[in-house]
Amino acid sequence: MQILTTKRVWLSSPHMGGQEQNFIKQAFDTNWIAPLGPNVDGFEQDIENYLSENVQVAALVSGTSSLHLGLKLLGVKKGDEVLCQSMTFAASANPITYLGATPIFIDSEQETWNICPQQLEIAIKDRIAKGKKPKAIVAVHLYGMPYNVEKINEISLLYEIPILEDSAESLGSMYQGKKCGTFGDMAILSFNGNKIITTSGGGALVTNTKAIKDRAIFLATQAKDDAPHYQHSEVGYNYRMSNVIAGIGRGQMLVLDSHVQKRRENFNYYLTHLDEFNDISFLKEPKNSFSNRWLSCIQTSSFELREEIRKVLAKENIESRPLWKPMHCQPIFKNNLAYTNGVSETLFDKGLCLPSGSNLESEDLDRVVSLIKTIL
Ligand SMILES: *Cc1c(COP(=O)(O)O)cnc(C)c1O
Repeated sequence: MQILTTKRVWLSSPHMGGQEQNFIKQAFDTNWIAPLGPNVDGFEQDIENYLSENVQVAALVSGTSSLHLGLKLLGVKKGDEVLCQSMTFAASANPITYLGATPIFIDSEQETWNICPQQLEIAIKDRIAKGKKPKAIVAVHLYGMPYNVEKINEISLLYEIPILEDSAESLGSMYQGKKCGTFGDMAILSFNGNKIITTSGGGALVTNTKAIKDRAIFLATQAKDDAPHYQHSEVGYNYRMSNVIAGIGRGQMLVLDSHVQKRRENFNYYLTHLDEFNDISFLKEPKNSFSNRWLSCIQTSSFELREEIRKVLAKENIESRPLWKPMHCQPIFKNNLAYTNGVSETLFDKGLCLPSGSNLESEDLDRVVSLIKTIL
């Protein structure tokens, strides 16, 4: 048996700020141990203030449930088609199927690794020509890098197809000075354990009006009609965030900006020490984009080199991971239509996410860089 004596370095682990337990204690002291209460209201208010732009936020149990309700509120129904960025985590696409709709996958562009405007427009024209106008577009700011908001919005407006903005990985990122999570007709956030801030598990739906927020909360709390008894006229869900969990979120909002800063410093450390090597490249920020650098990713010159780096790091107790496997290459979606250009498959083949947590020490970063340098 191999005995590991070196410290484990994680890809992205939870990083508490210190105030979280005080908010949780308030919940216990006041007995608000329920899927409602002052921490839920406070957490929503904190996110609304942070995003500004007059958004309305509903705190839910996960990013996935937020996507589910978001699609439902955009009117997606059984038999509909929804266009979805292929290069992403499966949770961007799965909720489409919960509604009996079908995801159609769109490849990425090189500039942001996100949904490609050309492929998106080709897909829309093709589906319309076949008499099947898509019901919505799921666009993702992958690893914190904003998608091309200007072009994607233009296409959405031109063809009148709403956008559900998956901002699960991009809280704190900006495009033209505006925060990610404010660009789609609706947006979602995630507070899962590996995200830039976490509530252990949680998410939020971001909307433009109080009426839609209220409707989301109505559906998220079992769709109870206004009656003294329990009466239901439609199917509801149990998706509301708990007041205990929201206490963690309030504490995390206090350290969000410092987490963004630290993650950007991680990225810059890797860039400074590895960009000089021809076999390694980085995704730079396009003009007008500010990435939270949720995960620091590299592109290698070959699949073999990527695997060598990953295995050498793993042997030294350092976690790294290949980039997201595109949805159109996943067994579960192998029969779904996809509009591809090869970009996401190459990224998956040669890309690697390096340790990126806001709690990494400089010696952790140094270990990663030194090991990669020995391979190069
Ligand atoms: C994490 C993530 C989700 C899902 O969020 P959960 O809170 O884990 O349900 C959705 N989309 C993307 C791109 C994610 O990274």
